[in-house]
Amino acid sequence: MCIRCGKCCSNLDVPVTYEDEKRLKEYGDVFTRGKIGLYLKKVGGRCVFFRDGQCTIYNKRPEACKRYPFYFRCFGDDDALFCVGDVRLYVYIDPECSGIGRGENVERVIVELLKSTIKIRCC
Ligand code: SF4
Repeated sequence: MCIRCGKCCSNLDVPVTYEDEKRLKEYGDVFTRGKIGLYLKKVGGRCVFFRDGQCTIYNKRPEACKRYPFYFRCFGDDDALFCVGDVRLYVYIDPECSGIGRGENVERVIVELLKSTIKIRCC
């Protein structure tokens, strides 16, 4: 459960997918190129969209933000494997997130996340 601490909006570099880029380019110069693609820019050590303690584009935020603190991999440990339909993904949780353990049942949240992102390309 998000406790609105804002740590993830300052501590992490947010990757931007092609769909995110299309959705957010109306905001202008908000991207920076990293080693493996585009990321959201930071201003004063925080995401360019984080102001007054909150996300100013919450409904349009990047996929990585919607999934946080979960992240998906196409390979990993057996106990991280989740299968929804034909999709098999390894799901991990950022242990730095202060909201861990405060929300709903984690497995149910993961399955819902996977269902909503089933269109992602899997290896
Ligand atoms: S887009 Fe919003 S949720 Fe994502 S890091 Fe920036 S301020 Fe935080």
